[in-house]
Amino acid sequence: MWYADVILPLPLAGFFTYQIPEEYLKVAKPGVRAIVQAGKKKKYTALIYRIHQNKPEGYEVKSILALPDHKAIVNKFQLKLWDWISDYYMCTPGDVYRAAMPAGFKSEKRAFKPKTECYVRLNLHLKDEKKLNELLDNLSRAPRQYKLIMQYLESAGFPEKLYPAWTGLKELLSKTGTSHAVYKSLVKKGILETRQHEVSRLDVYNTEIEKPLSLNEKQIKALNTVKESFEAKDVVLLHGITSSGKTEIYIHLISEELAKGKQVLYLLPEIAITTQIIMRLRRVFGDKVGIYHSKFSGHERVEIWKNLNRQSTGMREPYQIILGVRSSLFLPFDSLGLVIVDEEHENTYKQFDPAPRYHARDTAIMLARLHNAKVLLGSATPSLESYYNCLTGKYGQVELSSRYLDLQPPEIKIVSLHEAYRRKQMKSHFSVQLLEAIEKSLQQHEQVILFQNRRGFSLYLECGACGWVPRCKHCDVSLTYHKKERKMVCHYCGYKAETVTVCGSCGSTHMQMKGFGTEKIEDEIALFFPGVRTARLDIDAIRSRKTLENIIAGFERGEIDMLVGTQMISKGLDFDNVGLVGILNADNMLNYPDFRAYERSFQLMLQVSGRAGRKNKRGAVIIQAYDSDRELYSLVIQNDYRAFARSQLSERKSFSYPPYARLIEITMKSKEREILDQAAEVLATTLKKQTDSRIMGPEYPLISRIRNYHLKRILLKTDKEKSIACVKETIRRSLDELRLKDEYKKVMISVDVDPA
Ligand code: ADP
Ligand code: ZN
Ligand code: ZN
Repeated sequence: MWYADVILPLPLAGFFTYQIPEEYLKVAKPGVRAIVQAGKKKKYTALIYRIHQNKPEGYEVKSILALPDHKAIVNKFQLKLWDWISDYYMCTPGDVYRAAMPAGFKSEKRAFKPKTECYVRLNLHLKDEKKLNELLDNLSRAPRQYKLIMQYLESAGFPEKLYPAWTGLKELLSKTGTSHAVYKSLVKKGILETRQHEVSRLDVYNTEIEKPLSLNEKQIKALNTVKESFEAKDVVLLHGITSSGKTEIYIHLISEELAKGKQVLYLLPEIAITTQIIMRLRRVFGDKVGIYHSKFSGHERVEIWKNLNRQSTGMREPYQIILGVRSSLFLPFDSLGLVIVDEEHENTYKQFDPAPRYHARDTAIMLARLHNAKVLLGSATPSLESYYNCLTGKYGQVELSSRYLDLQPPEIKIVSLHEAYRRKQMKSHFSVQLLEAIEKSLQQHEQVILFQNRRGFSLYLECGACGWVPRCKHCDVSLTYHKKERKMVCHYCGYKAETVTVCGSCGSTHMQMKGFGTEKIEDEIALFFPGVRTARLDIDAIRSRKTLENIIAGFERGEIDMLVGTQMISKGLDFDNVGLVGILNADNMLNYPDFRAYERSFQLMLQVSGRAGRKNKRGAVIIQAYDSDRELYSLVIQNDYRAFARSQLSERKSFSYPPYARLIEITMKSKEREILDQAAEVLATTLKKQTDSRIMGPEYPLISRIRNYHLKRILLKTDKEKSIACVKETIRRSLDELRLKDEYKKVMISVDVDPA
């Protein structure tokens, strides 16, 4: 008797064993889906992980109900990667399965349906030439029908091809400008016959393919050094300033991999950039490039998956390059040669919630190792982790330190907000210097980008008399004022309340608006510069793929003068007429209680600045900041990455933070605060006894209550030299022990390895 260990799409530990019915023995193997029953009634689409002949003891084994696939849809490489993720990031195989596969593969309700379109062809009895001529004569009195038939004949390849071919109706109608009714009458007369054809949802681009641009001397040197480094190292960091031409170097490397018959995965941190890079890749690689991210429909994602599995519908050839965000790591590659992780420093590569809380850069390195492939990390401002790995010789490093056309990097100026306020030189959130610079750029028909860390209005109310701020009922945060609804909203749980006019603490009626975000900036710009065409690039503004593409295309075509955005605008967008970049409030990035705040601020300021002044001339950057004397700002002005890294690394070393130590963060949640406190104490005590990691906490995080759940955090710091696997094992054991105690059953616990 054969059994299958399957992964259920549930956050349950381990695998579940089912019996394989006789008739499925041929098909059942790892990577094939299986419909199984779990619990009393529920059916799930599980995935077979392994098959064996060991009968499980102690319970009655159920049988697999059905197998929807003929062959494996998940390959060996993928299953190995899943193993690594669940082990390294301390989550269940079910967590990985749920994150890895498009919805259409996992549930019956939203199951994948092939897309069909109506195709037509000439009725076979009209095949002979005489009959065809008769027909055309007859039709000359019905000009629109005649037109449609003539177009059909042309599309079907008449007269060279005599056998009437199936041809897409949609195209015929649009080419001839005729209506559905015309086609209907031709069917009625028995002239055309029709049938539904399965077609691909994935777009086809029959673009002219161009050769990659030829590289300049510095790029050639960098390309060659990358290739040399790959002989000794699996991972190489290409540290090149913005506009140094990294992307062109990637394109050359990709060509070489394709020539070897290998696949390439090109990772980007943000959907917004994929729409720009895809054009550059399509120009050179045409339909060999596929794109994959969450804004694609579930059906499209299944089609991409099937395409890579060579189970494609429609006419498409398998993709050889996938451009995508972090989830594209999970696609069924079978012969990867190269993984490019562009903007490798971006923290959007890390998944926060839900599990698996994986880092796409680190997972990419693992994926590449499974395929014996190479990894190229690219950034103008590398993460300290990667930079450190270069210093120790673990990664190769290649530098590119001038812009492609030897343009000067932008001129960066710091404006002190303290001074400006003192001298009354502020108009709302804008210093006089910034306003003047904006004015000048607009006059010269150059575009402007303004960066503000917060999305939306980010306004809150505050009592002018006592400082009281209205807070959420369910969470430990202040409520945000939303202009459109005129309501106060909690960004954590969605709770809404009417705007208050009276202080809840002292009764004063001096409630004031405080704070500002992208939407507010956009409104103020309209007041200062009437008629200026602005657009906003933040999560709120780009809920749909089309809006996002429209904003970027509009800005590229110069139909938008000014872009106001959050972090999103810092991530590798490439525009060529930006005269000025303004950062409205640089300090508020620095004030996060996070050991990476300094690194993030440095990266963000340089990245945002990099958007200024591309092809024709030197751009300008104005950074508004309260603490304008900080060393950080002078490092930004001098674009001195090395000095920044030196000072930060020595700080990280003395306080035992990454890259000198590894962090694991345990978050515990409960509605009952006392139980939570006790459970956290018990866990922390056990961990202190059983590991020699440094344990910080348990502590209430900055936001200590969300949706009525109290939160507590424990942070483990483990020196790089110590075994992190042992620490994880101890955590697993301690959590299992804790979960056995009845009183703590309801405490929810999540583990985040390498929190970002
Ligand atoms: P990075 O990725 O380092 O920011 P890009 O590859 O986007 O830099 O290059 C910046 C600009 O210079 C782009 O507009 C790109 O098309 C152009 N460019 C870079 N290398 C070349 C080249 N070898 N020939 C022509 N144009 C180039
Ligand atoms: Zn008050
Ligand atoms: Zn709330």
